[in-house]
Amino acid sequence: MIKSFADLDLDPVLLSATEAMGFTRPTVIQGEVIPHALDGRDVLASAPTGTGKTAAFVLPALQYLLDFPRRKGGPARVLILTPTRELALQVTEQAIALAKNTPLKVISITGGVQYQDHADALADTQDIVVATPGRLMEYIEGERFDCRAIEWLILDEADRMLDMGFGPTVDRLSAECRWRKQTLLFSATLEGHGVDSFTADLLKDPAQVEATPSTRERKKILQYYHRADSAEHKLALLKSILESDTRSIVFIKTRERLGDLRNQLDSANITCSWIQGEMPQERRNNAIRRFREGEVNILLATDVAARGIDLPDVTHVINYDLPRTADVYLHRIGRTGRAGKKGTAISLVEAHDQSMMERIERYTKELIKERFIEGLRPTHKKAKTVKKKKKPTDKKSAVAKKKPKKK
Ligand code: ADP
Ligand code: MG
Repeated sequence: MIKSFADLDLDPVLLSATEAMGFTRPTVIQGEVIPHALDGRDVLASAPTGTGKTAAFVLPALQYLLDFPRRKGGPARVLILTPTRELALQVTEQAIALAKNTPLKVISITGGVQYQDHADALADTQDIVVATPGRLMEYIEGERFDCRAIEWLILDEADRMLDMGFGPTVDRLSAECRWRKQTLLFSATLEGHGVDSFTADLLKDPAQVEATPSTRERKKILQYYHRADSAEHKLALLKSILESDTRSIVFIKTRERLGDLRNQLDSANITCSWIQGEMPQERRNNAIRRFREGEVNILLATDVAARGIDLPDVTHVINYDLPRTADVYLHRIGRTGRAGKKGTAISLVEAHDQSMMERIERYTKELIKERFIEGLRPTHKKAKTVKKKKKPTDKKSAVAKKKPKKK
């Protein structure tokens, strides 16, 4: 097992940058991906949000560029695609920080920036370009960007890119970059979303890395649930949680339910901002800005609305409604507990949600405990679990029963 960055064959200028960023040792995904990437392999990697995937591809890409330095100036040799502009900027920032002791240049191409500004920057020599697919395609079509020099193609948050309908654009970009040597694809999950067929076309005999984060990385998110007797009880539980000093994202199943909850919180004089699908971009940005800047400390969101957006880190993720699938649960709770900060994920569970809660436990391989708020204890009995956990006494009796049979 890899214990330190120094075990990873990285240049001292990269090691000192990781140190400066406070990375004391590689995360699991970094330890597993970096050696494959430096061996020249394609990589298909999945790991939950907040486990350090960015550096898992940025570090080997930088190392590659250092190992094979360019002879003369020219267009970028590494292309990183991300689903959203916010993410592109985040990745760019981290790449610049990791490259700070090298001569390598990193630039981002996203919407919302003057075409000419990009064009000027692209005319200079660049090493890494971080881009959103739609905007980059415009530049290629306008013959402002040439993919022929791309040697590494990296897809970040591939599942979200597919969710957002970028599949066909990414396929086209992949064809544009057909002279590349390596492709690395990162995703929070590899399940659903048609990720399978997508990756088959993009990757050649990839090293598959599915990193379960170590307990140390995972422990940053405290997860528990409260049982609720009814809709009113659920609302009372939420209000009680929000009374303490939190910065919370509250996830709700549908925008109709979000509207109801908004009115209920409003009547209780609890201020929040909210985002939902089918909301004009400008209002959505405004809601997020208010939350980001601390004007409000509660953000209500549907999964649809949260998908395309990089929400800021929060202290609490509250599942007012449980998600429809277990992998969405991981996406949601990944919004908290990032960058070494502690986070809390609280689910509010009605009787009919109990089976979903168990599915989530199986999926995350974690025991999520029930907690109580005094004065708001549930009165209904907890439903019997489908799969009974064997008590030690059960085991003994099972063994005892078996023995006579054998004889
Ligand atoms: P992901 O893409 O998997 O969601 P990020 O790459 O955004 O995760 O990293 C999450 C946070 O962890 C970032 O703030 C990043 O700076 C930090 N981080 C990344 N690698 C390490 C490391 N080896 N040690 C400590 N912190 C790290
Ligand atoms: Mg990421």
